[in-house]
Amino acid sequence: MKNKGFTTRLVHSDRTLNKPVDGSVHSPTSNSVLFEYQDVNDLVDVFQGRKVGHVYSRSSSSSNTALQNQLSDIEGGIGAITFSTGMAAISSALFALLKQNDHIVVSRYLFGNTRSFMDTLCNLGIDVSFVDVTNVNDVAQALKPNTRVVFSETIANPVTQVADLEAIGNLCAEKNVIFMVDSTMTPGYVFDAKRVQASMTVCSLTKYIAGHGSVLGGALIDTGCYDWSSYPNIFELYKTGDSSQWGLTQVRKKGLRDLGATLAPDAASEIAIGLETLALRMDRCCQNALRLATYLHGHDKVENVYYPGLADHPQHFIARELFNGNYGGIFSLDLADGVDVHAFLNQLKTVITATHLGDTRTLGLPVASTIFYESGAQQRAEMGIGDKMIRFSVGIEDIDDIVADFEQAFQSLK
Ligand SMILES: *Cc1c(COP(=O)(O)O)cnc(C)c1O
Repeated sequence: MKNKGFTTRLVHSDRTLNKPVDGSVHSPTSNSVLFEYQDVNDLVDVFQGRKVGHVYSRSSSSSNTALQNQLSDIEGGIGAITFSTGMAAISSALFALLKQNDHIVVSRYLFGNTRSFMDTLCNLGIDVSFVDVTNVNDVAQALKPNTRVVFSETIANPVTQVADLEAIGNLCAEKNVIFMVDSTMTPGYVFDAKRVQASMTVCSLTKYIAGHGSVLGGALIDTGCYDWSSYPNIFELYKTGDSSQWGLTQVRKKGLRDLGATLAPDAASEIAIGLETLALRMDRCCQNALRLATYLHGHDKVENVYYPGLADHPQHFIARELFNGNYGGIFSLDLADGVDVHAFLNQLKTVITATHLGDTRTLGLPVASTIFYESGAQQRAEMGIGDKMIRFSVGIEDIDDIVADFEQAFQSLK
C-alpha cells in the first residue's frame, strides 16, 4: 500500500497493517484489562522490553495499538502513542521528556489549555520562554544551552498565525533540540511534519481526526527525524535496543504509565472509524472556510477576518507552501463597531454556538469572554485577541446554507 494515495491507504490500513485474524476489515475492539501468558518467561520478557506484548491495558491494548499503527502510517512516522485527550498527549509527553531546570521555547500563540499547562510547567521549575513563532529569529534568540524542546502549533487559534515551521525545523535540527509540533489544526493529510523536520507531532484526535464530536482522544507521533541517542534526559533503563525508539519508550513508560491518561479501547475504535474520512472532511471544511472567509472579508458589519487563505493574511504564502494548497477550517473575525457579539451569535440558526472545533458542523464562539477569559486582558492583548472577536470552525455543510445563515443574522440586526 506504500505508493497508494492517502485515503486508499487509510481505508485499507486496518486489514494491511493490523491484520485482524478472523478477516474482519476493522480491528476488533478489545476491552480486556489483563493478558494471559502460558509461559511466565514470556511475561517477564515483555516486562523487561525483550518482547512486544500487552501486560495491562493502561499501558497498551490491541485496539490502541491498531489506531497507533494507522496514525503513525499516515504521518510516515516510526510509532505513535494514543492518549485519552489531546491535553493528555501534550502533558504526558512533556512531563516524560523534561526535568527540573530544563528550558523550553514555546509559541506565544497557543490553544488556551496548552498555555495553561505551560504555566503549570513554569510553576514546577521548568524555564519557559514564550516567543513569536512567525519569526524564526525570535525563536533563535530565545534558545539557551539547556533548551530541550521548541513547541509550536501549525495554525494558531483563534487569530490563525502560521508558524514559520520550515525555518524553525532547520534551526532545531542545527541545535539538536526536539521540535514538537501540535498538528491538530492540520492533520497528516494537509501537513507533512517530516518536511519541516518536526521531531514529534502531538494532536487532539477529538478534533478533525475523529471529526464527529462524539469521542475524546489524543496522540503523539515520532517522525523519526530526531536522534534520541544524544538526548540527555533518557533514563538509562530505556536506552536499550534501537535508539530511534527511546523517545517513544520513555513517553510510554513515564508519560502514559505514570500519568495513566489512557485512551479507552471503545474510543480508539470509534476514532479509527472517523479517521477513514479525514481527507474528504478536511477538503470540504477547508473549501467551505475559504468561501465563508472570502464572503465576510470586506463585509460592512465585519472589521477584520483572520484566515490564512486570504491574500492579505501576513503568512498567506507560508501557509500555501506548508499545507498543500489548504488553509485550514478555522477563521476568526472582529465584528464592526455597533454590531454586538452576543446578539449576532444568538441570531445564527444553523451555526451552533459551542466550544469545540474540527467538527462536521459549523461552530461559533465569542473568544475573549470564554476560552481566553482566564488569560486576562494583558495576555489576550499579547495574543491579538480583542473583545469583538468570534472564532468559527467551519463544518462540512452545504456552504450556501451557512452563508445564508450569516446573511440573515446580519439582516436581523439592522
Ligand atoms: C483541542 C486542542 C487540544 C487539546 O485537545 P483535547 O482533546 O481537547 O484535550 C490541543 N491543541 C489544540 C491545538 C487543540 O485545538
